[in-house]
Amino acid sequence: MYNPKSMKAEEFIDHQEVLATIDYAEQNKHNAELIDQILEKARRRRGLTHKEASVLLACDLEEKNQEIYQLAEQIKKDIYGNRIVMFAPLYLSNYCVNGCVYCPYHQQNKHISRKKLSQAEIAREVSALQDMGHKRLAIEAGEDPINNPIEYILESIKTIYSVKHKNGAIRRVNVNIAATTVENYRKLKEAEIGTYILFQETYHKESYEKLHPTGPKHNYAWHTEAMDRAMEGGIDDVGLGVLFGLELYRYEFAALLMHAEHLEAVHGVGPHTISVPRIKRADDIDPDVFENGIDDETFGKICACIRLAVPYTGMIISTRESKEVREKVLKLGVSQISGASRTSVGGYCEEEPEEDNSAQFDVSDRRTLDEVVHWLMDIGYIPSFCTACYREGRTGDRFMALSKNGQIQNCCHPNALMTLKEYLEDYAKADTKQTGERLITEQLELIPSAKVKSIAIDNLEKIAAGSRDFRF
Ligand code: SAM
Repeated sequence: MYNPKSMKAEEFIDHQEVLATIDYAEQNKHNAELIDQILEKARRRRGLTHKEASVLLACDLEEKNQEIYQLAEQIKKDIYGNRIVMFAPLYLSNYCVNGCVYCPYHQQNKHISRKKLSQAEIAREVSALQDMGHKRLAIEAGEDPINNPIEYILESIKTIYSVKHKNGAIRRVNVNIAATTVENYRKLKEAEIGTYILFQETYHKESYEKLHPTGPKHNYAWHTEAMDRAMEGGIDDVGLGVLFGLELYRYEFAALLMHAEHLEAVHGVGPHTISVPRIKRADDIDPDVFENGIDDETFGKICACIRLAVPYTGMIISTRESKEVREKVLKLGVSQISGASRTSVGGYCEEEPEEDNSAQFDVSDRRTLDEVVHWLMDIGYIPSFCTACYREGRTGDRFMALSKNGQIQNCCHPNALMTLKEYLEDYAKADTKQTGERLITEQLELIPSAKVKSIAIDNLEKIAAGSRDFRF
């Protein structure tokens, strides 16, 4: 029986409820009156239920679809302004005991080169990332209790925060590791992680079990209930995601929103972020084998409908996607992107030779961070290296309160400008710096509070003179 408040995976992601939702959406895909009502609700930025959002996803009235895209763009602008948060993944180890059939780290793969970074190697990778200008990382590791125990992850986080190379610093470490115990989540919280990220891969239990035939990840309930354990362990920023291509996208979409509703119903706060990866070619993985791949248009529609359904949840896109697709979905609601990513273990210090490949997947966007920063500014965005919220304790419902009471423009906006200024001073190429300085001058005018604006101007001068790390 469907019950969003249940702590059992099969009840808060009830299979029959997902099927009924898909059916309801299909029956109403031409229902202009209902679609108008749903759009009206979305316009009030109240969010949508999984059922309502699924109707919009299924809608095939061209005129209404255009309204969906326009509204997603508007909501994105109203809530996030033109800021885009930057991050990079850091692969610590690709040892893994699972059998995920879409991932080249699966245990049966004897061809891929297995690597695990030592603490000294992590420090070198972090220096390389700092030298590009990164301030926020997402650490990634395979699941392997012998090679990558929680102690290794905790020690690595400590190392990452301790590296201070020139003016560089990693100020927020998000963590993407396998589902674990409440006790381990508590340890991650104590290690001061930002968001705990765990992709569901697929919400369809039967497919999930087939796609994860061996290893601890095979256990659907353990994986699906992980965010509840993370929250019980004190982590209040959690990041959901689905690996699109594994199952029917309408199934995943409805279930993903049901998961968000469950977190809200039980813990009083929804997911901090949602990621939307699509399967990519990798060492022994051929993405064409998976029958549920989605085209760019459907992908864009999914992003737009997520933006309408959970307006206050950040949306993340990685370098799995090309520059063109990234540009398209930035407009439709994406608020965070990675730049200059390497998906191989140790890849920031050394380019890997073909025959010694440890990468998790091929990246499509291969530009440098400076190229991505410059490109973002050219197309009207402010690249932000801000990490202030969680350092100021604005996580979970406190972050939500900030975003809902409209104070973002007096807080996130100046923070974005100050962290961009740091980037321009320390890492940017001359032409990027010129474009950035112009943008900052222009954007300062959009800070509503005169007092905040004057402090921001003062801080920008101090940054130019060599000080670092200001925040509201
Ligand atoms: N081992 C952890 C786990 O099981 O959740 C960490 C996650 S893994 C390092 C990061 C994510 O990459 C996975 O959750 C999966 O969604 C994604 N991934 C795996 N293989 C992929 C592929 N071939 N293409 C694109 N994404 C992939």
